[in-house]
Formats: sequence, C-alpha cells, structure tokens
Amino acid sequence: MIKYDVKSEHAAEFIHDGEIRETLKYAWEHKADKALIEEILAKAEKGAGISHREAAVLIEVEDKEIEERIFAIARRLKEHIYGNRIVMFAPLYLSNYCINGCVYCPYHAKNRTIPRRKLTQEEIRREVIALQDMGHKRLALETGEHPTKNPIEYVLESIDTIYSIHHKNGAIRRVNVNIAATTVENYTRLKDAGIGTYILFEETYDREAYEKLHPTGPKSDWAYHTEAMDRAMLGGIDDVGVGALFGLSNYRYDVVGILMHAEHLEARFGVGPHTISVPRIRPADDIDPRDFPNAVTDEVFRRIVAVLRIAVPYTGMIVSTRESQRCRELVLDVGVSQLSGGSKTSVGGYAEGIVDAEDSAQFDISDNRTLDEIVGWLLELGYIPSFCTACYREGRTGDRFMSLAKRGLIGNCCAPNALMTLAEYLEDYASPRVKLEGLKMIDRLKQVIPSEKIRRITEDNLKAIVEGKRDFRF
Ligand code: SF4
Ligand code: SF4
Repeated sequence: MIKYDVKSEHAAEFIHDGEIRETLKYAWEHKADKALIEEILAKAEKGAGISHREAAVLIEVEDKEIEERIFAIARRLKEHIYGNRIVMFAPLYLSNYCINGCVYCPYHAKNRTIPRRKLTQEEIRREVIALQDMGHKRLALETGEHPTKNPIEYVLESIDTIYSIHHKNGAIRRVNVNIAATTVENYTRLKDAGIGTYILFEETYDREAYEKLHPTGPKSDWAYHTEAMDRAMLGGIDDVGVGALFGLSNYRYDVVGILMHAEHLEARFGVGPHTISVPRIRPADDIDPRDFPNAVTDEVFRRIVAVLRIAVPYTGMIVSTRESQRCRELVLDVGVSQLSGGSKTSVGGYAEGIVDAEDSAQFDISDNRTLDEIVGWLLELGYIPSFCTACYREGRTGDRFMSLAKRGLIGNCCAPNALMTLAEYLEDYASPRVKLEGLKMIDRLKQVIPSEKIRRITEDNLKAIVEGKRDFRF
C-alpha cells in the first residue's frame, strides 16, 4: 500500500490520494466544529500559514459570518505582506503546436480547426516590441509540447532574443517560463538562460481525473508531470509556480493538492512555490465549459483565493485575464498579488499583421481592457501597479527570498521598487489621465516609506526617472 510521505520523491507518496480523501472527509465532518474553526482562525491570524487539513476545513465552512472572518484575515495578511502593490505581467505565446491530448485545451493534437503557428525569432522581436510599447517588463512564455516544433533549443533561443531587445526605454527584465514538464538537464539550461519562475500547472491533482483529461501524449504520465517541480529544483531553479485549472475536477481536492504540493517542496527543498496560479476553465475553439460539470462559482472562487492566501501567506498569487473585471476585484481584495493586463492568448497576437493570430487563442479573455486601462483601474481602487522585477535580478530567489519575506524585510524593497517602476511606466507609456492619477499616488506614498535613507534614495531616483534615467532598484 502507498503511504503518505511529504518528503518523498515519488508523486503518489507526496500527493497521496488517501491523505487527500481523508482530509476531505475530516473537513466535511468538522465544518461546523466551532472550537476547531476558532483554533484554525487564531492560527491563521498569526500569519505563519495553516496546514492542508486546516485549509480544507475553512473551504468547507458554511457559516456566512465565519466566511467574512476568513476574508478579513486574508485581507489583513495580504495588506501586511504585500501592502497595496499588484505586480503586472503579460503572457507571450510562442507556439501552439502540441502533441498532447488535453481535452480542455484547443491546442490538443487532434484539433484540426485551430490554425497552428510558431513564431520566428523575427516575429518574437515584433511581439516583444509591441509588449514593451505597452509598458510590460515581465513576461510569462507559453508553448505547447512538441519535440521537433518547440524543442528546448527553440525556447532558449527565444529567451535570448527577448532579453536582447531594447526598444526606446523598453526592456523585458524577467522572463518566466511555462513549458511542459522536462528533464533536470533542461531545467538547468533554462536556469542558465536567466529565467525567473518556472511555471507548470498540475491542472488537477486527482490522478484518476487527470488520466481521463490527458488521454494521450507525454503529459498523460501523471507522476512525471507531478514530479516536474522536484526536477526543476534539482536542476537549480528555485522559483517555481504551481497551479490547478479550477473547473476540471473537484475544487476541494485541488485546493488540498496545491497545498500538499507546497508542503512537499518546502519539506524536501526548504522552499515552497514562489507563486500559485488559480485559472478557471474558459470557452475556446473546440472547448465548451458546459462539458465540465465541476465549474466553480465566483463566490467559491473567492473563498479558494482567501484560503490559499491564509495557508501560504508568502506565496504570490496570480489571476489572469480569464477572469472578468468584477471577479478580479473580488479576488484582489482577498489575496491576489499578480495580474496580467492587456493580454493576448494567441500566437502572434500583440504585433500588427501576424496572419491568423486571433484564431489561434488558447482561451477567450474576459478582461479585454488595455494595460493602460488596467493601470488606471488599479489606481482608482487604491492599488499600486508595480512593474518590479528586482528580486531575481538581485539574486533574491528561492529560500533567500522566502527568508527575507518571512522576516518582513522584503517590504523595504517592494514599496520603493513599485513606486519607481510605476514612475517609469507613467513617464513612458501612460495616458495623461492615468499619469496624473499615478503621480498623485507616488507623491502620497513616497512620504510613508519607513526608512529615511531609502526614502531619500527613492526620491532622488524618482527625479532621475523624470530626467530620463531608468532601471533603479533596491
Ligand atoms: Fe498542449 Fe498545454 Fe494545451 Fe495540453 S494544455 S494541449 S500540453 S498546450
Ligand atoms: Fe517582487 Fe522582489 Fe519586486 Fe518585491 S522587490 S515586488 S518581491 S520582485
């Protein structure tokens, strides 16, 4: 019989089906256990996280008053750790050739109706210039899995191309990579190419459901896929981003799975995931979400985000333009710390004139606003849109980042970096209305930087940005 072992190198032992099912049963039986819930909330309040079992109870609670307390704790933790900063990024789709059979994704190998595209290095250049001209500094690269169309060499060459482009004041300063599970050797090559975070979604942690949803291709190997983050860590990548595609399977199972994955990485490598993504299934070419009966409502989705924020307070949480403006507001309030903006989910969607680009999208976008509109909206809501990429460029990754974050020291960097990168955005790309609002926010917030020395340097740098200098960071 397979036993649960958080430190094991085998997926079936650290994402242990029996432990997850026991946890879900325990949560169901204790969903109205007031004493236990109070104990969990008191622990949550301290900001050092809660276990997958405790999180499962909070997911199950039905009492509306307790739900409001869960939201309030998540909000307080988020404000304490992240302040009002929201880190901005955009996806860049390189290729939609794929040999896998994921039934929820229009790029699956058997879909004959979607145009297949792979960007040349010249097309990547055009895409990156278009992204730089919007103001983006941080990208997430996306490709399907294909050994001859998208080999690792193509991904590495594309990363080099992206980092080499400097159009006007533009620069992509952090390239995160979301490609199929691969070998330790390939992860080392990605690390050497200077990637930020390696991102790979588990889709669903439920092995039985996973195997039905991934009937063909290398991704159908659940254990190889689930052990990918271990290989990434062994290959030297210490910032990894996990996630599940909510709506594919039972969300309770997947919340517990995400947290057991985080506990495993922490136990085995001393550092949990850098980010958690919480996508929900969306319509696309050949995909109708009504075929997936496990859809998650906005209300449940908000609870999931809040409970994850409480369980792993120092892990960034990402929501994409799959979600509507309204839903993004709901989840920003209780835990999300990174947003994409102005995104295109097609291959070649950013630059003008790339043929068939729109038709090659991986999913339909709900939030179609431009980056400038999103920046303006965040400012109106009282958030600071941040284009900061400082940590990985200063070598603050993995356990170094986590140890600073847990001691509350990372905030000394985040706040001034957010103000300086926002100032760059306002100077180079913002509309007049957004610029005005942004400058007011910067003026107000620079006064409240706690360290006098950092405040003084920030003020000098802000003046230098107006004079045309760029790329200051703490
Ligand atoms: Fe391919 Fe990824 Fe789509 Fe699966 S989810 S078909 S691996 S692109
Ligand atoms: Fe993120 Fe580091 Fe920048 Fe803070 S300083 S926003 S943690 S990159």
